[in-house]
Amino acid sequence: MIIKENTPLSKFTTFRIGGNARFFAEPKNQDELEEALLFASGKGLPSLILGGGSNILIADEGYPGLVIKMGIKGIEVRERGEEVRVSASAGEDWDLFVGMCVEKEFYGIENLSAIPGSVGASPIQNIGAYGVEVKDVISSVEVYDKKNKAIKVLTNTDCQFDYRDSFFKKDDGKNFVVTKVNFILSKKKKLNIEYADVKKFFLEKEINDPNIKDVREAIITIRKNKLPDVKLLGTAGSFFKNPIISKAKLDDLLKKYPDLPFHLVAENKAKIPIAWVIDNVCCLKGSRVGQVGLYENQALVVVNYGTASAKEVMEFAHEIARKVKEKTDLEIFPEVQIIK
Ligand SMILES: Cc1cc2nc3c(=O)[nH]c(=O)nc-3n(C[C@H](O)[C@H](O)[C@H](O)COP(=O)(O)OP(=O)(O)OC[C@H]3O[C@@H](n4cnc5c(N)ncnc54)[C@H](O)[C@@H]3O)c2cc1C
Repeated sequence: MIIKENTPLSKFTTFRIGGNARFFAEPKNQDELEEALLFASGKGLPSLILGGGSNILIADEGYPGLVIKMGIKGIEVRERGEEVRVSASAGEDWDLFVGMCVEKEFYGIENLSAIPGSVGASPIQNIGAYGVEVKDVISSVEVYDKKNKAIKVLTNTDCQFDYRDSFFKKDDGKNFVVTKVNFILSKKKKLNIEYADVKKFFLEKEINDPNIKDVREAIITIRKNKLPDVKLLGTAGSFFKNPIISKAKLDDLLKKYPDLPFHLVAENKAKIPIAWVIDNVCCLKGSRVGQVGLYENQALVVVNYGTASAKEVMEFAHEIARKVKEKTDLEIFPEVQIIK
């Protein structure tokens, strides 16, 4: 395995931002991964795992250690009656993987179509879209523990999945490199088409009894109309997480903004689609400062119009968060991983 020096990272992130990696490696199997990690620890350097670079903002100064672009590939399928167990290596492309499962009519992840990135990153922030989260179909996650230099298998419970969160984002979890994700899918038809946009799509197309391929097609079309094409515009998707607030706080906000949408996520907690607030309360959708802006069709998506720096993106994002706080007293935090 070649370990390169001073590799520009902007071409490995969908934001198209980031300085140089001091060292850069692309392991293709477990042995090469261990070799790369040993190289970094031998030099006393930190290491950073990179998948598709679609949920990350890397500093303009670059990364002072070893960046490991996950290149481990391979998919195994075991069918047992209606149940399908699928193991996918971390370096597999997420959407190609979803496409393969949809082709084979394995139900469970079709609503997660067209999310950029790798399989290995899917449990990190528990990716979710259109009423489905990946935690619902993950049975276990295989990892390499950097601290103890050992391979481990974490159960779904060990992963402590939550809304755009997991054990892997906590301090202890950051020692773990995901090498493989084990999914339980189903051959029995079970679709989740209750999400408003999806329902509307099928109503307009007059499709009464959609199949799994129709659902994938619907999600891809809906996303195309809402989100920027990463081939044309730099972005890491939703920049902020939707805040989860108490019922009392929600009641206060509803007095001021009666149209505020919300989803009850527990008896006393509600999730606020912060894009609505940024658009309707702060009137910032489509706003732009220099090379950074909020996407015209989705107020939660920060875009790099060409030559934005990480510093400019962070300043812009801070300003958005400040305005949201000023108007609503809501605190919002990045969903994107910020690498300083
Ligand atoms: C246009 C667009 C739309 C998006 N839509 C959605 C959406 O609908 N829902 C959603 O949830 N997300 C969405 N995202 C965010 C992103 O696609 C996901 O978070 C995706 O899982 C990131 O995968 P990645 O391989 O690109 O991760 P990267 O950006 O490479 O890494 C993200 C984080 O995970 C860590 N990481 C990556 N791989 C591993 C590994 N193998 N082991 C340990 N740590 C690892 C990295 O160190 C980093 O901290 C969107 C992004 C874009 C650009």
